[in-house]
Amino acid sequence: MPERVIPLADQRYAAAVPRVPEHPAAPSGLLADQLGRPLRDLRISVTDRCNFRCGYCMPKEVFDKNYAFLPHSSLLSFEEITRTARLFIAHGVRKLRLTGGEPLLRKNVEELVAQLSALRTPDGAPLDLTLTTNGSLLARKAQALKDAGLQRVTVSLDALDDAVFRRMNDVDFPVDDVLRSIERAMQVGLGPVKINMVVKRGTNDHEIVRMARHFRGTGAVLRFIEYMDVGASNGWRMDEVLPSKEVIARLQSEFALEPMQPQSEGETAQRWRYADGQGEIGVISSVTQAFCRDCNRARLSTEGKLFLCLFATRGHDLRALLRGGFSDEQIAAAIAPIWQRRDDRYSELRSAMPREQGADAAAPKRVEMHYIGG
Ligand code: SAM
Ligand code: SF4
Ligand code: SF4
Repeated sequence: MPERVIPLADQRYAAAVPRVPEHPAAPSGLLADQLGRPLRDLRISVTDRCNFRCGYCMPKEVFDKNYAFLPHSSLLSFEEITRTARLFIAHGVRKLRLTGGEPLLRKNVEELVAQLSALRTPDGAPLDLTLTTNGSLLARKAQALKDAGLQRVTVSLDALDDAVFRRMNDVDFPVDDVLRSIERAMQVGLGPVKINMVVKRGTNDHEIVRMARHFRGTGAVLRFIEYMDVGASNGWRMDEVLPSKEVIARLQSEFALEPMQPQSEGETAQRWRYADGQGEIGVISSVTQAFCRDCNRARLSTEGKLFLCLFATRGHDLRALLRGGFSDEQIAAAIAPIWQRRDDRYSELRSAMPREQGADAAAPKRVEMHYIGG
């Protein structure tokens, strides 16, 4: 058998160790990047592992038994994550989202939720604390997560048809278990539950109207996400993207929909409501209508690298500082200029570029979604 080279997982993505200023200034909470965007949202990946193999995220051919996931010692501990979150809150973050990989695979994740839910903004207000999950383990964990202080969950679900769903998760996982998880999340008060459906033309676009019918009037908010060219593994093709405009047109052939005003700054979804008061849906048009202008999100990878964009090719190694004996004041001061220098706006640039110079050009180096989270 030919020898297989296993990459050193810990060094898979380039990352620079941030410089610690000699005279650290206290965080003002008012950071702005090069495009004037504030820092408001921190997405924290708590594991790079997943029990699903969705083809658009962790295709089986790449993420097989030989794939080198991060060793446990590389992962940030719950205390390190909470400490980092506290520093980001001082810089203006108001929303924390746990993600992955599959976040519910991280052992005792509810203990992390408890630590994060105890954090407060400088004015003493609680944070908006949420989690995105594939729903496979949620029925079992929902109550413990709620008790630990989680406010809401987003559950990813790409189809109601069991055969289509099993094919898309590619591990033969039944849809009924995810539907039970969604019900359980609602029962324990983790709502309003958001349901994320990644739409791939030719794979699950025939499920759009059925999904809308199913969740209409339940209180859950269904969001249709354009299939994105994240990472370098999913073999993304533009002709598999179903533009949100088309999603809305298909829904309008069945339901009367009215556009809604955005609720908050940096909101990714365009929201629509059913004219008869049966709730709302959203579309996330990451490909056809880039929303970089308002992007106020930072991402913390499983082993403590900070990424400023979903399509970044380089991270900033905060773990080196966390484990390097620096004070909170010093680490906060090292984070500030990273955000202030940020000029990422990949999706906007992608829309403006011919395909061969855009999405393809950066693909080999781009960070994978399961590693920094969605
Ligand atoms: N495992 C959890 C889940 O699936 O909800 C959390 C992590 S997953 C990476 C976060 C979100 O990213 C999911 O809603 C998933 O559908 C979405 N996602 C992954 N790859 C995507 C792609 N290529 N295009 C659009 N969304 C994607
Ligand atoms: Fe796992 Fe979520 Fe990626 Fe699917 S989208 S493979 S459930 S991390
Ligand atoms: Fe934000 Fe980057 Fe996505 Fe633009 S491409 S919205 S900057 S994460």
